[in-house]
Amino acid sequence: MHDPVLTPVRVPPLANELTGSWIRRMTARYGLPAQDLLRGILAGPRRVQVTGTPSTGLELFLNTSARAQLTRFTGLPLARLTGLLPSLATAHERLVDDEVARAAWYVPRRAWVAACPPCTGRACPPGRPVLVYPEAASHVCQRHQRWLLAHAENPVSIPLRTLPEVLGAHRRHLVLVRAHPWGADAVALAAAVVWSWQVQGWQSEAVWQDRVRRVAAVMGCSPTAVMPHALLPYPETIAVARLLVDHRWQQRLREAAAGDGLHDAAGLFLQEAGRRINRPWLTDWLTARTRVSRKDAAAGDPLHQWLQRITAATGITSDGLWTLNRTEVRPIEYSDRASFLIHSRPRTVCEEAKAAFLTGGWEPLPSSQPGHTPCQ
Ligand SMILES: [Zn+2]
Repeated sequence: MHDPVLTPVRVPPLANELTGSWIRRMTARYGLPAQDLLRGILAGPRRVQVTGTPSTGLELFLNTSARAQLTRFTGLPLARLTGLLPSLATAHERLVDDEVARAAWYVPRRAWVAACPPCTGRACPPGRPVLVYPEAASHVCQRHQRWLLAHAENPVSIPLRTLPEVLGAHRRHLVLVRAHPWGADAVALAAAVVWSWQVQGWQSEAVWQDRVRRVAAVMGCSPTAVMPHALLPYPETIAVARLLVDHRWQQRLREAAAGDGLHDAAGLFLQEAGRRINRPWLTDWLTARTRVSRKDAAAGDPLHQWLQRITAATGITSDGLWTLNRTEVRPIEYSDRASFLIHSRPRTVCEEAKAAFLTGGWEPLPSSQPGHTPCQ
């Protein structure tokens, strides 16, 4: 039996693209349904099973047999495809791995965004954005000054021209994740720390109020819809993350804890964090809060837990330092965050945020937690 004559694919996948996005782009120029192309790729002497359709799930998952068929069809080696398309690199637990070529359209297992149109240019047919996983820090296009949002049909984004502090934070975020193997975990921990402050009434302080107004103005939505979005505490999150990974500061905190105890080490950290995020009142404010609720302050405080680990006599290195309890993490779902931050009409606000595509996209997650999918 002869192999079919194969033509190398003319539409190559982009880095971190959803496999479903790539298959759709391959067919969009010819007006061909993606499902027809998929069935054509998998057609062979053996049985084929396709679950779902491109309208029931944005992402395409393939078992080993189907992946082999895809490499044969495209003429691209599997290692190249898995290097570019994250969903091909790991098996989906619902997809049986046997001799039958199986494909399934499911909801993506990680947060995704519509890539920046000027950057994807010719790869992007009209009305069909390239959908990508932003991973640790690709949720902002520095060149075109956009915070990329999750919309499968339109490349929506938040313009950042009036938000220079967000662009500055993103530049530092890129440096952080490149320089530190645990950079994404440090950002997730910092997000939990800032969240623990935000839920205590910080949404009414001046710096965030000003940022909320600027985001609401460019997005044409109400300020409350912006409040639970990852952009709002982003500059503070990155500033705290940089302090957390700073070895010199870690050593200072150990010395402070050894001399004067954990409480003083926490005070030292908060003083420096307050200085860096332009809230000189941070230490005093948190001390006052702690007096009100001393028990809660230590038990569910991610900063306190981290300080305990960093100052432990035995010393904890690498991954152990960035562990987060489930109760400490910043909620992944927009609606969960809204229920903490918005006290009147949270349901109406969620609907408005959904219409503005503020409910999906990038979230600060630990690197070991790829399975979470913020709602779209
Ligand atoms: Zn761009």
